[in-house]
Amino acid sequence: FTSSPTRPGLHIIHIAAEMAPVAKVGGLGDVVTGLGKALQKKGHLVEIVLPKYDCMQYESIKDMKVLDVVVESYFDGRLYKNKIWTGTVEGLPVYFIEPQHPGKFFGREKLYGEHDDFKRFSFFSRVALELLLQAEKRPDIIHCHDWQTAFVAPLYWEIYVPKGLNSARMCFTCHNFEYQGTAPASELTSCGLDAYHLNRPDRMQDNSANDRINPVKGAIVFSNIVTTVSPTYSQEVRSAQGGKGLHATINSHSKKFAGILNGIDTDAWNPASDNFLKVQYSASDIDGKIENKEALRRLLGLSSSDFRQPLVGCITRLVPQKGVHLIRHAIYRTLELGGQFVLLGSSPVPHIQREFEDIGNHFQNHEHARLVLKYDEALSHLIYAASDMLIIPSIFEPCGLTQMIAMRYGSIPIARKTGGLNDSVFDVDDDTIPVQFRNGFTFVTADEQGFNAALERAFNYYKNNADTWKELVQKDMSIDFSWDSSASQYEELYEKAVLRARTASRS
Ligand code: ADP
Repeated sequence: FTSSPTRPGLHIIHIAAEMAPVAKVGGLGDVVTGLGKALQKKGHLVEIVLPKYDCMQYESIKDMKVLDVVVESYFDGRLYKNKIWTGTVEGLPVYFIEPQHPGKFFGREKLYGEHDDFKRFSFFSRVALELLLQAEKRPDIIHCHDWQTAFVAPLYWEIYVPKGLNSARMCFTCHNFEYQGTAPASELTSCGLDAYHLNRPDRMQDNSANDRINPVKGAIVFSNIVTTVSPTYSQEVRSAQGGKGLHATINSHSKKFAGILNGIDTDAWNPASDNFLKVQYSASDIDGKIENKEALRRLLGLSSSDFRQPLVGCITRLVPQKGVHLIRHAIYRTLELGGQFVLLGSSPVPHIQREFEDIGNHFQNHEHARLVLKYDEALSHLIYAASDMLIIPSIFEPCGLTQMIAMRYGSIPIARKTGGLNDSVFDVDDDTIPVQFRNGFTFVTADEQGFNAALERAFNYYKNNADTWKELVQKDMSIDFSWDSSASQYEELYEKAVLRARTASRS
């Protein structure tokens, strides 16, 4: 149950609601695993604490076993027992928390989007810290992510440091400021935090409603390090328009705030060893891409008559942030331009899901367009490999992973210049960017004209010269999107924070 680091690196514990591939909704899951693995490779002891969801992908967990301990944790005025499981995911040691609470917090069909999410995750955040205390862990860094585990930061300083879990510096990463998890201030009391003391403008009070508390704001105030997932997004959220109500808080804590571009897990996303593909391929031998295109077309019942017909892919959650109106438009525009279009996406918003189901039905037997409206990891790999281009017309995009995965698989991104897309996709025609960094097609205005201009340039580039397109594909496949350099930036922030704490405690 207890383990202490025996090596010189840092002891880093991530407390999160997602971890790929066992429990993933979007990019957060990829980041926890990718960053965790990269830090482990650099010699740090990395551990992860996750809820034990019933709907997890259990086959990806090695050596899962329940521990012979029960962690009792406070909630709603009493103690609740929690079973603790351990296992290894992608080589990372993970603790899974299974609450013995009548609310069956993690026995649902999905990870989030439940009426009692605030309760479920404030409960989990508290048990995670209780586990660390009882296991006598002495981490150097506790790293929490997004609003679901943002509670960890105030809980740590207000309750667990006084109890003796006091070795750590707190790091909080916000993967998307759209989701802040606000709730009536009184709900904070359930997990043992003092709502009266915390519902103040300089603590957890929501900036636009003085009777509500905001967990993301709380984590910004109560963490030593606050990061978001790209340099451009870290600037955008400092403006009234981009900060979703938190710009003033971010600005007043700007000294500890940084934007670090996510990497991708280059082992999981590697066309040279990807078992989901029909044929593996690499930058030096891209012929396999055509076979994967054939395989996808057969699988989805699309026409295979012209192997050069450009295939445009889109893999996304269908939410307003992703530019759903432009995605819808892209289907029709691609067909007008003589291309094929494949969408893999699903929506938590019922009217958007219905709208795309209607479009999907319309194209049910179409030779050149297919909509697959679900979450499907295996199919996503095949689409990245098969497509010639991938569209990401986001209205805003904290980092975005699909553009990087696409490039790794030789699918050229067509992206709106916002957030992390602006830090990773550089237009082939942009003279202000050194030629070696130009890797895709971008547009600025989030309307059909803006998108059309980029799509048309991509089609012309594709059709006019097969050799230059091939060079672009090979160049994109060779770009290093691994976690290596981003993990080094986290490492540096962690080390500085730990050093500052040590210096302060000596003086
Ligand atoms: P976000 O975190 O906002 O959803 P990102 O681009 O950061 O967006 O991450 C999206 C991740 O989720 C990528 O790994 C992408 O391949 C995956 N993904 C999105 N939608 C689907 C889907 N319908 N099926 C399979 N994978 C998906």
